[in-house]
Amino acid sequence: MLQPVTVGHKTLSDYAHLVGRPLVEEINDLADKLKGLKVLHLSATAFGGGVSEILYTLVPLMRDVGIEAEWQIIIGREEFYNATKLIHNSMQGDAAALSDEQWEIFDRYNLINARELDGGWDVVIVHDPQPAGVRKNAPEKSAHWIWRCHIDLSTPNPETLGRLLPNITGYEEYLFHMDQYVPDALRDEGRINIIPPAIDPLAPKNMALSPEDAAYVCDQFGIDVERPLICQVSRFDPWKDPNGVIDAYRIVKEQIPEVQLALVGSMATDDPEGWDFFNTTIEHAAGDPDIKILNNLNNVGAIEVNAFQAQSDVLIQKSTREGFGLTVSEGLWKGQPFIGGDVGGIPLQIEDERTGYLVNSAEQCAERSLQILKDPVLGKQLGRAGKEHVRTHFLTPRLLRDWLQIFTRLQNS
Ligand code: UDP
Repeated sequence: MLQPVTVGHKTLSDYAHLVGRPLVEEINDLADKLKGLKVLHLSATAFGGGVSEILYTLVPLMRDVGIEAEWQIIIGREEFYNATKLIHNSMQGDAAALSDEQWEIFDRYNLINARELDGGWDVVIVHDPQPAGVRKNAPEKSAHWIWRCHIDLSTPNPETLGRLLPNITGYEEYLFHMDQYVPDALRDEGRINIIPPAIDPLAPKNMALSPEDAAYVCDQFGIDVERPLICQVSRFDPWKDPNGVIDAYRIVKEQIPEVQLALVGSMATDDPEGWDFFNTTIEHAAGDPDIKILNNLNNVGAIEVNAFQAQSDVLIQKSTREGFGLTVSEGLWKGQPFIGGDVGGIPLQIEDERTGYLVNSAEQCAERSLQILKDPVLGKQLGRAGKEHVRTHFLTPRLLRDWLQIFTRLQNS
């Protein structure tokens, strides 16, 4: 049997004051006809990164409205995660591809997981490439199969896509964050849904913190809360470009010497590359005492991420590839001015010059940071517009509604 993930309890009606009663009623109407539906979410990790972040809220909310939702983690070891990390990078456009031996490892673990999977599901939702091959090895274990892709597939390495395709074909429904991520080869396979993810406004990571509490938490990590703070929250991954953020900070520091930078990054259990890149980032910071590089091993959890986002004068997600970038919505939800790389799902969340700024280089990032730091009123305006955009588009009840619509269609098919 695959390892189930224990999730907390959440209640949809608690969200009504944020998302409005009409959406809550729409969800309840849809859910009325779906009571008892057995739905399994299958993913590679319960810790670190956007997928687990989403499922810790989505699964409890599905349960709250009467779906029998479960979340299970596939079995994997380092050799498997090394292969799947390469698939992830390569599907996001990296030239490096897997060896035949690594594909064999990928296939072997998918077969093991297919055998270990319990049967009798109404719907199995497979998240991302890691467990994608489970369906073809055990199609009889669920009435319906859905592949939910969270990564940026706009420029995949064709060789890797070609090898992965037999694993991702054959699903009835596909979900992508954006239309440009949909591989042509899948367009005739099943129904394509373009559905971006969402954040939980009531989770400890996003709940309202008083400015005093946010400052207190940041102070514990050595931040001088009287001085300006720039911050990026993200895994230590080359696509997230923490070194580019350091470059931008250095340009800002020439004009505003008191500025500080916090790079807050968790290490995912399925990301063996993370530590190497973490060390590269430490080297790039070259011992600057105003650069704080923190990770979950320094006890940075959800509340700390919340505090850093709430305390920062400028938030950055300077990615060069980004499936969606939950950290963007999380930051905007704190009402802070946000600067994001003009890639992937970030422009869905940041409308340039209205809900934040989009940039393509460290220089541009520095220029926009300086503009915000020199004009706090501008920062407040951007922050307010950004928060409203997130409230209307990127909170979990909207995502729950979208899922229930898909389940309804499958049930009626
Ligand atoms: N995150 C965190 N602690 C950290 C770094 C990241 O909790 O130190 C969370 C972050 O708040 C977000 C998720 O990990 O909820 C990252 O999701 P995103 O979509 O931004 O990127 P991914 O890691 O999935 O590529």
